[in-house]
This record gives sequence, C-alpha cells and structure tokens, in this order.
Amino acid sequence: MPITLTIDGKTIQAREGQTVLEVARANGIRIPTLCYHADLSPVGACRLCVVEVEKMRGLVASCTLPVADGMVVHTHTPRIIEERKFVLEMLLTDHPNDCMICEADGGCELQDAVYEYQVEWPQHKGKRHSYPVGADPNPFIFTDFNKCILCTRCVRACAEVQGRYVWGVANRGFNNKIVAGADVTMLEAACEQCGACAAYCPTGALTDKPSRGKGRAYQFTKVRTTCPYCGVGCQFDLNVRDGRVVKVTSARDAGVNGMALCVKGRYGYEFIHHPDRLTKPLIKKNGTFVEASWDEALDLVVEKLAQHRGDAFAFLASARALNEENYLFQKFTRAVMGTNNIDHCARL
Ligand code: SF4
Ligand code: SF4
Ligand code: SF4
Repeated sequence: MPITLTIDGKTIQAREGQTVLEVARANGIRIPTLCYHADLSPVGACRLCVVEVEKMRGLVASCTLPVADGMVVHTHTPRIIEERKFVLEMLLTDHPNDCMICEADGGCELQDAVYEYQVEWPQHKGKRHSYPVGADPNPFIFTDFNKCILCTRCVRACAEVQGRYVWGVANRGFNNKIVAGADVTMLEAACEQCGACAAYCPTGALTDKPSRGKGRAYQFTKVRTTCPYCGVGCQFDLNVRDGRVVKVTSARDAGVNGMALCVKGRYGYEFIHHPDRLTKPLIKKNGTFVEASWDEALDLVVEKLAQHRGDAFAFLASARALNEENYLFQKFTRAVMGTNNIDHCARL
C-alpha cells in the first residue's frame, strides 16, 4: 500500500518498508551520513542523519526509521544542524588533523561532512587515541585506526559483501576499537585481501596500500573496464594519472559485481606497466630469445603448428580470454588442427 508523507514541506509517495533516508534521497533531499551505505544493513550509529518527526520525541536516525503514512519530517531545522555539528565536533576531538597528507583526502566522507557543516577543529586537550600507523602487515590494505570513526562499515562490508567476518568491535567506551579476529593481524583472521573493507571505509582508516602516495581521488581519470582475470566479468574503474594506471576502484553500478572485487581484480594491475612485460614477440634463435616482428612470429607459429596436426596437438583455452575467443579456440582445434584435444583452465 502506498504511503504518503511530508519531508521538508514536500508531499512524497513512498513504499512500505522504505526508510525516511531512502525516500528523502530518492526525492533529492540531502541528508548527510557516515555509517550508512546503501549496500549494507543500516545501524544508525553515527547520528549524522538525524531528523525531526512531528509527534515523535527527540531526534531520530533517518537511516533506520521506516516511513509511515502521514509522517511529517524535517531534515534541516536549526536544532538538527546544531546536533550534526556536535556529532562532527565529537568525532574530530579524537581524530588527527591530517587531511593534507591523508590518503583519503578528496574522497573522505568525514572531510566532506565537516566542510559542509563548517565545523571548526576543536581545541581539545583531553585524551586522544594513538594507534600505531600502518601496523597491520597485510600487503594490500593500510590501516590507520587513529582515523577510524567506528562507523562499522568495514565490519558489515566484510561480513555482508565478502562473507569473511574478519572485522569486529572490541572493548567498551573510549577503548572501543575495530579489531581483526581476536585482535590479531588481518591475515591471521582469514582475510582474503579483497579490499572491500577499504572500499567501504568512509575515511582514511582503511586504504589501499599499493596506491599510497600515487595521487588524490580528484587527480585520477576513471576508465571503466572489465577485469582481465576470470570469466565472472567483474567491472571496475581504472584510476589513471599521467597515462599510468595507479589504482583500481570498484563501481557500485557494475552489473555483475557492484562494489565487490577479489584480490586479483582490485590489486593485481601492476603487470600493466611492469618492465618485465613482453610487448613484442620473441623468437628463440641459437638458444637465445630475440625480438621479432609480429609477421615473422606468426609465420613461424603457422609453420610449426602445421607439423603437429591431429592428436599430437592439444589446446588449453583460457578464462582470461573472452567467450568469443574461447569459441574460436575450440573451432580452431577441431576444424583446423583436426583433434578434440581442447580443454579449459577453468576445469583445473
Ligand atoms: S580521514 Fe578524512 S578527515 Fe581524517 S585526516 Fe583523512 S581526509 Fe582528513
Ligand atoms: S580485505 Fe576483504 S576479507 Fe579482508 S578484512 Fe577486508 S573485506 Fe574482509
Ligand atoms: S575502519 Fe573505516 S569503516 Fe571501519 S569502523 Fe573505522 S572508519 Fe568505519
């Protein structure tokens, strides 16, 4: 049954089961969030998305508030703005003033919210955390929990997107912290290094290690491509700077995989510019590989293959090739080479 509610004076139709935040965003009304991500189950932890609802007491987190017929919601009253500034100020009291050298600068949701609400850096003389920076030896994810805002997006991303349950929240009060397993390293806690936690982290607490120092989000040109590794066909964005691929970011609108990627797709791009990569054919002459033209190399392949037709020949096709190419491989093997000896690496 359709639900009619009012948000900031606008009459809006919604569906049962939607939250106030979802309906507001779908209707162009901006409500800031930090712990919320549309892919993850909402937890209402950061309190940045609070709204006022007439006939309800206090401010309510809109990310967990279901819409109801006749509801009257206000998203930007002076009281709400004051509350959001207070939340941000509290977060900054235990946060390094590091934006200028932070890996997340330009793509940090905390930075964006602080900017939007023009919160001054608090003159805080009390306790701050001082976690060792980059302490986890994981080769792909850089940890700096001084920048953690305890939003638990990493916890939920690892559990709900990757199904690994590596991250959890330990301790209480000021000692609350994000830990891998029972406070061990990520790899000891069975991390698969997919990078989803870093992709969902709204701050610089979890970032991609291989691209550290290679540039800011706004300095990259993004080029959508399909992963070259396996037949799933995940899509992602190559981040290019000065003609070089320096990072991979997942794309929420990627049809097959959304934000999810495996370690190969997210971090296995260094082969693109690797100095060992072969870019010209090599032919072995007198025991040594020498560079050759493509015509010369292909002529040699044709000549050699012609000597091995029939069951002396076998072809192992590749998951890194396209469907159409794999189709051609089996045609070539059967029709040209005259054998059924064709198999595919995906069966290994
Ligand atoms: S995590 Fe965000 S707010 Fe914190 S230092 Fe980095 S860019 Fe700045
Ligand atoms: S890299 Fe992937 S598996 Fe490892 S902790 Fe992060 S989300 Fe979990
Ligand atoms: S590490 Fe990042 S995603 Fe995880 S709780 Fe901290 S800020 Fe949130």
